[in-house]
Amino acid sequence: MFKRQSTFRSSGKRSSGVSVFVMLLVIAAAGAGAWFLMRDLSGPSVALAPQTDRVGIAQPLEVTVQDKSGIQAVTVTVKRGSQSMVVKQETFPVLEPSRRVAFSLKDTRLPEGSFELEVRAWDGSFAGFGKGNSTTVNRQFVLDSRPPRIAVKTVPPAIHRGGAALIVYTVSEDVEKTGVRLGKLFFPGYRQENGGYACLFAFPIGMKADSYHPEIMAADKAGNVTSSRLLVRPLNRNYRSDTLNIPNSFLNFKASELAQLCPDKSTPLEQYLCANNRVRMENDAKLIELAADPSSVSPRFLWEGPFRRLPRSAVKANFGDHRTYVDGSRSKIDEQTHMGLDLASVARAPIPASATGRVIWADYMGIHGHMVLIDHGLGLMTQYSHLTDYAVQVGDVVKAGQTIGTTGVSGLAGGDHLHFGVLVGGVPVQPLEWLDSSWVRNNITSRLNTSVR
Ligand SMILES: [Zn+2]
Repeated sequence: MFKRQSTFRSSGKRSSGVSVFVMLLVIAAAGAGAWFLMRDLSGPSVALAPQTDRVGIAQPLEVTVQDKSGIQAVTVTVKRGSQSMVVKQETFPVLEPSRRVAFSLKDTRLPEGSFELEVRAWDGSFAGFGKGNSTTVNRQFVLDSRPPRIAVKTVPPAIHRGGAALIVYTVSEDVEKTGVRLGKLFFPGYRQENGGYACLFAFPIGMKADSYHPEIMAADKAGNVTSSRLLVRPLNRNYRSDTLNIPNSFLNFKASELAQLCPDKSTPLEQYLCANNRVRMENDAKLIELAADPSSVSPRFLWEGPFRRLPRSAVKANFGDHRTYVDGSRSKIDEQTHMGLDLASVARAPIPASATGRVIWADYMGIHGHMVLIDHGLGLMTQYSHLTDYAVQVGDVVKAGQTIGTTGVSGLAGGDHLHFGVLVGGVPVQPLEWLDSSWVRNNITSRLNTSVR
């Protein structure tokens, strides 16, 4: 099929009308700066993207050519054995020092396998009596149009609203990107020592079971993508409702902090509502951004054994509580969902790290006040909010039980307590799952060790 394409041409044929026009331009330019132009003795630089040696048939490819005398023409030719075919030919009547030429192989009907791409570019110098200096670059590629194949080795039969799950799978070839996609959310899969991939993903509490459609995907280095619906049954879980009083005494107590969170609002109540909405959304986005940063996420689990909670503490609020906020006269002013476990002990109680991990945040963050985030690997993080002070800094590796700071009232906290959150890919999930060692064993650790053979 490749042979039948009749657009094969020798690379030198550019329209003579354009050549004359270019010639006139060059002559005109030569009058002004012949000496400068005559001195350009080298051809343009040529850069080809992407850098990988495997490409897909419809993958966007791009050549960037640069020369101080301007770019006159670019030709891209595909060669395979004794056959060749021009896939892109451009001439530029206006000489610019840099040109980008985009193309793809989709009309070439190239078969799978290796081929050569030849890029030839001419600059706008007077060299060769106006033809310009030329550069020819040849690169070998492999055309790969086969998408990777995914084989799921284990996944829990069900996932609860607000909960998390682990999937273990294999992919048939090296991948550029893989993981579980859920609308705009993406939970990356991480390659494990046995060659399989492990991916932790969440069922965000704000979603409904009938609209929860996670997909597992893999994209290879040639841009071929496989994606399929993940067979995990979403189960609803009911959460409680709660009413939170926001009296003037609280607003006065928090006045300076609220003013700093929302300096563009004038009254303490407006500042509070702004913090509880706008700042909360900014903080949520920041947590997802932190979890998406490969430099902050370990590709292997860093913890073992049970997750621990603040000792000798009482639960003051649960994950998933639907909170109605009322003012001093019991009028509703706001509503939000509480995304962690509020635990109260004595004031300024030392906080133990829930499990072994690496500190990726130890700083003030909006509604959370002074906050520590610990990465436990695979996008799993524990969050400690409303602290008084820190005993750790970013980059520290902490052991389970090691003190990381003390409880307090910073951020949107009325009384001294610890807001303990568990995040998967930056999305808050039910901490009680992780504090339950049999849930962790059945859903996480036993599945992680599934054979991938
Ligand atoms: Zn809380």
